[in-house]
Amino acid sequence: MSKVIAVANQKGGVGKTTTAFNLGTGLAEQGKKVLLIDSDPQGSLTISMGYQEPDKLEETLFEIITMTTNEEKVPEGFAILHYKDNVDLIPANISLSSVEVSLASAFCRESILKSYVEQVKDSYDYVIIDCMPSLGVLTVNAFTSADSVLIPVQAAYLPVKGLQQLLKTICAVKRKLNRGLYIEGILLTMVDGRTTYAKEIANQVTSVYGKTIPVFPTEIPLSVRAAETSALAKSIYEYDPKGKAAKAYLSLTKEVLAHGSK
Ligand code: ATP
Ligand code: MG
Repeated sequence: MSKVIAVANQKGGVGKTTTAFNLGTGLAEQGKKVLLIDSDPQGSLTISMGYQEPDKLEETLFEIITMTTNEEKVPEGFAILHYKDNVDLIPANISLSSVEVSLASAFCRESILKSYVEQVKDSYDYVIIDCMPSLGVLTVNAFTSADSVLIPVQAAYLPVKGLQQLLKTICAVKRKLNRGLYIEGILLTMVDGRTTYAKEIANQVTSVYGKTIPVFPTEIPLSVRAAETSALAKSIYEYDPKGKAAKAYLSLTKEVLAHGSK
C-alpha cells in the first residue's frame, strides 16, 4: 500500500522543500520506494535535486496536468526523472504557474492531480508532494490527492494566524473532496536551540494545537548545513551525515514510518 503525503504551508520559506527532499530521501534510505512531486512553479525541489535549469525541462508536472485535464492518457514514465535508487522526481518549472488559471474553468478541477497520482502511486511506497506557498488550486489538488498533510512551521515567528487559514482549507477539502485526509503532523523547523524564543514558539504551538493536531516530537534545528544542501543536489545525509540536521531528518523519517499508512 502506498501513502501520499503533501508537504504544505502557505507561508513561504518555512522549510517545505527541504523537508520534502530529506524526508523523501530518508524514506528511500530506509528501503522504501519514493516519488517526489514538485508542485511549485519556482521549481525549488527540482533545482535542489540537481536540475539547475528547470525551465529547460520539457516534461514536467505542467504537461501531466494539461494532459490529464484534456483526458489524454499520460504515457508511462512520462516526466519521471530517476534521482537515484528508489527515488524518482516529477519536476516543475515556471510553466506550472499558468495552471492556476487554466484549471479555474476545468471540469473537476480539484481532482486532476489525484487522477494522475492514482495511476502511478502503486509503483511506490511513498509519494511526497512539495506544495507551493499558497492555498490556490494546485495546493487544493495536492490535498485532494493526499492521504495526509505534513505542515512545516518555522519556529521564528508567531505562526498561529496563518496556520488557522491552512487548517480551514484542509478541513474544507476533507469535507468536500477527500474524506480520508488527515494531518500527519506539524513539524517545527529551523529551531534555534540557543534561544529561549524558539522554545517558547514550540511550547505555544504544542499548547494551542497539540490537543487536536499531532506535533512531531522531532524538531528540525536551524542549520547552515541544511541551508547549503539546497544548492548542491545532495540530501543532508550525503552532505553532512553526522550533523544535527541529518539526525533530526532521520528521526522525522522514522516517526513518519511509525505512523504507518493510516
Ligand atoms: P517556499 O515557500 O519558497 O517554497 P519552503 O517552505 O519550501 O520555501 P525551503 O526552500 O525548504 O522553504 O527553505 C527556505 C530557506 O531556508 C532555504 O534557503 C533553505 O536552504 C533554508 N533552510 C531550510 N531548512 C533549514 C534549516 N533547518 N536551517 C537553516 N536553513 C534552512
Ligand atoms: Mg519550497
